[in-house]
Amino acid sequence: AYEQVLAIRREQLRHLGLTFYREPLLMYRGHRQWLWAADGSRFLDFFGGIVTVSVGHSHPRVLEAMRRQTETLAHTTSIYMTSAVHQYVQRLSRLFPQPLSVVFLVNSGSEANDLAMLLARVHTGNFDLITLRGGYHGGVSSTMGLTSIGSWKFNVAHGFGCHATMCPDVYRGPWGGSHCRDSPIQALRQCTCPPGGCEAGDRYVEDLRDVLQCSVSKHLAAIIAEPIQGVGGVVQYPRGFLQAASELVRERGGLYISDEVQTGFGRLGSHYWGFQAHGVTPDIVTMAKGIGNGFPMAAVVTTPEVAESFSEALHFNTFGGNPVAGAVGTAVLDVIEDEGLQMNSECLGKRMMEGLAVLRDQYEIVGDVRGKGLMIGMEMVRDKGRREPLVMAEVNEIWEDCRQMGLLVGKGGLYNQTFRITPPMCITEADVDFALSVFHVALHRHSV
Ligand code: PMP
Repeated sequence: AYEQVLAIRREQLRHLGLTFYREPLLMYRGHRQWLWAADGSRFLDFFGGIVTVSVGHSHPRVLEAMRRQTETLAHTTSIYMTSAVHQYVQRLSRLFPQPLSVVFLVNSGSEANDLAMLLARVHTGNFDLITLRGGYHGGVSSTMGLTSIGSWKFNVAHGFGCHATMCPDVYRGPWGGSHCRDSPIQALRQCTCPPGGCEAGDRYVEDLRDVLQCSVSKHLAAIIAEPIQGVGGVVQYPRGFLQAASELVRERGGLYISDEVQTGFGRLGSHYWGFQAHGVTPDIVTMAKGIGNGFPMAAVVTTPEVAESFSEALHFNTFGGNPVAGAVGTAVLDVIEDEGLQMNSECLGKRMMEGLAVLRDQYEIVGDVRGKGLMIGMEMVRDKGRREPLVMAEVNEIWEDCRQMGLLVGKGGLYNQTFRITPPMCITEADVDFALSVFHVALHRHSV
């Protein structure tokens, strides 16, 4: 099997124009929270295809819905309506507070955010966008301008100054402002709450006010934010910050876009959508990943007012809103509801957090554990007091150790120093306990 993996990787280098597929594993089967590699080894998947497998790999009800719809009618383009799509958008829109009720169907999170930017700009007649440092909003060139986390900023990494080329009207605030070098905001890259506690959120709001004051235009199209930053390392904002930020932006004519690509569909446990925890109803919500449990689909939900101002615009894509996506989307919503997966996220997220807190107290290299429901981060540090990130090679060793013991987790954060724990929401108590025991062994080995 190893020879086969090597052969495939050699082949990838020749024909696959992607920088990913970095792992030396050839996966061939998935079932619920489990993955099997070609050599027969089994893994507990605590990353869920990057927060995407929401109800479990190859869930029978999702597969059945997909099969039935594919056999009946797989594609029409969005010229012709189908009952699968009609049923889905009705169902999805009911999950939002009023006035969020109009659904646009697209294919990926990047495309959803690209459309959200366009909707906000067309609706407000303004161009400028505010995005937050550490945020990730996509990999197409428009959303790369919004994305503000290290190596993901292709444009910056390759010397195209973001402000100069791809996104001339994106302001990074407050995290990105060079004026805030010593601001508590810098601390956010390493910890949940700033050292001053959550009240320091007021200072963040002041920083945002500064950014707005300094920006060339006084008119905004929108602010975009993840309720909890995912790729950024499971970073939570101080209480009240997003609400205050949305008010500042709305005062300048802008909209509030909530990027729920990772945080939606019950993953956070206590709330179905991340914005609900921040006391602010967005004007636009974008979603992807968990929406299709691995099937490529995404959506934007907005108000009739915003949608109306877009009615003259020509917006079209070939696959968005195809009937199979409609059927899959409905099945995913059914499973989340029928299997009580939101509640499972809440309960097992708590169990996981409690276990991780014990590890944090036990091991010097665990600097912080944080998150909500089944979106959890465990930050690795080399100096607990100063929260200096653990060097990447050591983080990778621990990660590799976990994998050798059968546990797959993700990584994120500015220095890739935070393990990301985002399993399918169907995991059990035994899975949580197994993951904790694997972490325990791996951390112990790296602490002696
Ligand atoms: N927004 C967020 C919060 C994301 O995490 C991602 C993907 N990591 C995206 C947008 C982009 O989604 P996609 O990869 O489906 O284009």
